[in-house]
Formats: sequence, structure tokens, C-alpha cells
Amino acid sequence: MIIDREGLDQLISVLIGMGFQVVGPTVRDEAIVYENLNSINDLPEGWADEQEGGTYRLKRRSDKALFGYVVGPHSWKKFLHPPERRLFRANLKGGDFEIIPEKLEEPKFAFLGVRSCELHAIAIQDKVFLGGEHVDSTYKIRRENAFFIAVQCGQSAATCFCTSMNTGPRTESGFDLALTEILDNEHHHFIVEVGSDQGNAVMEKILHRQATGEDVMEAKKLTEEVAAKMKRTLDTTNIKELLYENLEHPQWNDIADRCMSCANCTMVCPTCFCSTVEDVTDITGDHAERWQKWDSCFTMDFTHIHGGEVRASTKSRYRQWLTHKLASWQDQFDSSGCVGCGRCITWCPVAIDLTEEIPKIRDSENQITHPGNEARHEIP
Ligand code: SF4
Ligand code: SF4
Repeated sequence: MIIDREGLDQLISVLIGMGFQVVGPTVRDEAIVYENLNSINDLPEGWADEQEGGTYRLKRRSDKALFGYVVGPHSWKKFLHPPERRLFRANLKGGDFEIIPEKLEEPKFAFLGVRSCELHAIAIQDKVFLGGEHVDSTYKIRRENAFFIAVQCGQSAATCFCTSMNTGPRTESGFDLALTEILDNEHHHFIVEVGSDQGNAVMEKILHRQATGEDVMEAKKLTEEVAAKMKRTLDTTNIKELLYENLEHPQWNDIADRCMSCANCTMVCPTCFCSTVEDVTDITGDHAERWQKWDSCFTMDFTHIHGGEVRASTKSRYRQWLTHKLASWQDQFDSSGCVGCGRCITWCPVAIDLTEEIPKIRDSENQITHPGNEARHEIP
């Protein structure tokens, strides 16, 4: 099927009419973030993002593309796994605390503009929040209610490496609808793939025309070209073993000299899921609340137990993050914890780049097989 700009606007209106809160990309504070949308006028028309290690800039495109950017600091996890939520309130009554559990909100989100790597990130978080013995009820209800409109990537950022992680740039499943934006001198329209019955039911309410075989080929060619031009790569061969065997590699010290332990990388990562709980009371001491908040393996308090922190050094915290992401995540959830979106590279203030750090460990591993290089393995 094919829809034009008016059809996309109609899609947003139809979803709002069906009770969905439509969330998608918009420009705020010189970045493209995910917020409520009311019409296509809220989309970042004519904007592109320029990304590199430690760098993010918006710049004007020469056309009116609505999805001519890649990914920004937000990910969909802020809607499915909110940054903070109250778990319960407690009020002192007659010497005892009465516990009032928080009512479960049941928002219906329609996510517009979800990229392939982001759908893979959501599939990873599904395993974390829904896959085990303890299901996260907030995530579950939000996930079940959500409607996904993917957008096939028409460009990659310099920090993307989804092709190495087999997560993009083309999405094949996990969406209700997937759009490919076609924009040239004569056309501006969207080729729509339908991925679910609900997607089909929504499309029946939208003015559309049938796509030809040529249109479908054009859509596929676009993502093939993006894949071919992707600049960053990460060799994932035996990456779990590589990291497990190099827990005392000198490169961790080198990274620790640069890392500020700011936790940006974990906050922007679409798969990081750690949280903490905080209890607060008012000044009378009669009312208390318990809140769940995002936390990070980079904060000292994260591993605080009696007697101090388990991971007191920056070295141990960065090593924990990367080794969990790429190695122990595989043991825990049977997949990598990284989808190659590049956010941790872009938003790291000192441009630490896992696609550069891993090869440094791998290269020294390769060199150690040559006689005379054993010293590189010594712990400083
Ligand atoms: S580790 Fe970095 S590149 Fe991988 S998913 Fe997280 S933010 Fe994206
Ligand atoms: S790697 Fe970068 S973003 Fe992550 S904690 Fe260190 S300085 Fe912050």
C-alpha cells in the first residue's frame, strides 16, 4: 500500500480517534526526541542529525523529509519502562501504616517512527521484563497495548553499527505497520507494509493506493544502500569468550582514565533496564512513598551493600557494563544486549566508543599468539 503526506496525517488522527496516545519524533532543545504528536506538523520536517563520538547536531536538509534523521537521545523504553514511577504510598493510621498500592495505569501508545534496531531493543527488553518468573506489570500492560509503526531507515548515522549486530537497517517483523519514505523531485509518499491484523484494520480507514512490485523493490533498495554505506562495524566473533578471558586486560585501565562514570551511556541505551527503589517521607513522618527510578551500573550506590560498594572503581564499572552488554547478557537472556544503535557513542561526553575499545582487546589477543608479545597480557 502507499499513502501520501495527507494519508500519514490521517493515520495519526485515526489512531488518536481510536484512543491511542501517538508518540513520535519531534524537535525540542536542538535534538529529535520522542513526544506526543497531534499531526504531521509535529514531525521533524526537513531536519537531519549529524552524529559522531561525543557529538550530536541537528542540521537542515535540502528537502522536506519527515523521517530524515536517525535516532536521538530518547528511546521507546521511557514509555514502556518509565524513568520513575510510584510503587505505593503508606499513611500512618492509629500507630500502623496503611499501604495504598499504586493503581496500574493502562496507557495505549502508538509509537510512530520506530527503527529496526529499536524494535530489536524492545524484543530484548521483552525477555528482561516478561520472560522470567517475575513479570513487570507496568511494562506488560504498556507493551500489550502498544501499536508500532516502524520506519525503514533511509540513512544511517556515523555511529550506527546495526549491520554488525544483525538488527537493521531493514525491519522485517515486530511492527503493525512499517513505512518507507520515498522522496524525490516528483514524489513524497510512504510505502506501507502491514505486519498485523490490527495494522490491516487501521489501514482500511486510511486513504491509500496499492503498491506495485516496483515500489516494493524501491523500498528494499533504499535500506540495502543504507546497509552498504554503514561506516562503523563490530566484529562479534566469540565476543563472549573474548571478554570473559580478558577481565584484567590493560585496556580497562585506559578506558577508566577517560570515563567520567556519568552514566549517560546507560541512560540513552534502549536495552539497559536497571532501576533502584527510593523511599521518601514528608516532614511529619506520617506519609511515605516508595518510588522506582532508573539506575545505572555506573553509579556508586548501585552496588552499595554493608561495608561499601562492590564496584568502587570506574574501571570495574565500565568493565561490568560492557561485559554484561556483550557477554553475560548472552548467558542471562540468550542474546546480545546491544543492538548497534550507536547512542552510547554519540552521547558519551568523552567519546568512548565500544566499536574502538573491543578491537583493541581483540588485537592484543591476536598478537599474543605470536612469540614475544606475551607481555601485553600482564596486569599493570
Ligand atoms: S550498548 Fe550502545 S550501541 Fe549498543 S544498544 Fe546500547 S546504546 Fe546502542
Ligand atoms: S563511557 Fe562515557 S557515557 Fe558511559 S559513563 Fe563513561 S563517560 Fe559516561
